[in-house]
Amino acid sequence: MNYDSIWNNFLSIIQTKLTSLPFKTWFADTKLLKIENSKAYIIVPMPIHKKHLVDNYNNLIIETLNSLVGTNCELVFLLSEEIEEELNENKVQNNINNIEVEVEEVNSNLISKYTFDNFVVGNSNKFAHAGALSVAENPGKMYNPLFLYGDSGLGKTHLMHAIGNYIVKNSNKKVLYVTSEQFIQDFIKTNRKDDEDSNFNYVDFFKNKYRNIDVLIIDDIQYLGGATKTQQEFFHTFNNLYNDSKQIIISSDRSPKDLKVLEDRLRTRFTWGLEVNIFPPDFELRSQIVRKKIIAEKLEKEIPDDVIEYIAANTGSNVRELEGAITRLIAYSSMMGSADITLDLAVDALKDTVSKGIGEKNDVHRIQKIVSEYFQISVEDIRSKKRSSNISFPRQIAMYLCRVMTNESFPKIGIEFGGKDHTTVMHSVEKIEKEIRVNKDLANIIEKLKKDIGLV
Ligand code: ADP
Ligand code: MG
Repeated sequence: MNYDSIWNNFLSIIQTKLTSLPFKTWFADTKLLKIENSKAYIIVPMPIHKKHLVDNYNNLIIETLNSLVGTNCELVFLLSEEIEEELNENKVQNNINNIEVEVEEVNSNLISKYTFDNFVVGNSNKFAHAGALSVAENPGKMYNPLFLYGDSGLGKTHLMHAIGNYIVKNSNKKVLYVTSEQFIQDFIKTNRKDDEDSNFNYVDFFKNKYRNIDVLIIDDIQYLGGATKTQQEFFHTFNNLYNDSKQIIISSDRSPKDLKVLEDRLRTRFTWGLEVNIFPPDFELRSQIVRKKIIAEKLEKEIPDDVIEYIAANTGSNVRELEGAITRLIAYSSMMGSADITLDLAVDALKDTVSKGIGEKNDVHRIQKIVSEYFQISVEDIRSKKRSSNISFPRQIAMYLCRVMTNESFPKIGIEFGGKDHTTVMHSVEKIEKEIRVNKDLANIIEKLKKDIGLV
């Protein structure tokens, strides 16, 4: 777990819920040391913070942290000078606790915030979603194993936890979620000498953890990688569970066929059940996801449709980036103390993120890139509000091409061109249409551009 990034997210949410003085006074200088055994260890600058945070913000902190890490944590506030003391005490306590607890009860590791309810379904992920739901409803019966694959940030981990949470809620089955790294670490420990004092046997622990379950979810299997002994052990674990009709769910960044680092016998087994590919979301789905995430934030301020579409159009296809853009916009608007979240504010808040990915995300961006190259201006300019004719003419051509070559509406095209009004787009399109009829050179240029863009 990366505690710093959890805490940064935490602070940006808190910042939206408080006015700036209490935020600065009570939260700005805090840090998350770690989360362990459902306790969150928070470092505060002065003793007075401890009491004030407990008395005034206890629930807010617990709930916000829960929304990020998926469990309710008990809060432990520490001054920097108390860290060492706390860590030592804990070590002794933990050694005793872990050994007893772990052998009997292995934690499912499920993150409760990832559910089917908050997974937004569209064309690009509907098969993955349907496969996941069938498995959740009939673990071990329908498709075994379920193999989910696709690029990073498209919702594989979310879906896997959703399956696990669904099964735990609707049955007595025992579910275990691990990443392939965790599996490797647990396996490596089995080579350790038994702990003589406690009678702790790591081989027993491993077998109990991985065989005494009904559902094994293993995330990012591509990292099982070159460690052949670990692969062998995973092969045994797989067979053992499979033969007992226990459900196995696997994710990867590529298909079993392309998982060249793994042994053939493992790859073949991965194809026995159902393989589903999850694709990048299209504009429609991205907008829906943004809308749903904003609702989940329970903001007091309204976020207008053009802002939602701006985020969806400009933030790439990775859902993690979409979420980052929303967090950033919300934090930015509260920092600026702005009453409303407007398109201008969004353009400002997201300017670094947006310009980074120019050029590969969708057909509109492709058109912008090719037209800019042809007229030797920058993509930033074609997407800006600049009015000089060496920029505005290519921009009108690009808008025209977007209109005739993609299915985007006037308002959507406007958004892609620096937030222009849809009537401006309509005028530009009409103007170019008229001009092509009388100007043969322009007609030729447009034909050439169309060929380069190559969409039709
Ligand atoms: P992956 O495991 O494929 O890299 P994740 O499951 O970690 O991706 O998804 C990244 C983030 O995007 C998560 O916060 C997840 O909740 C969110 N996300 C992805 N797809 C969707 C979706 N269809 N609906 C809602 N949230 C999504
Ligand atoms: Mg993942």
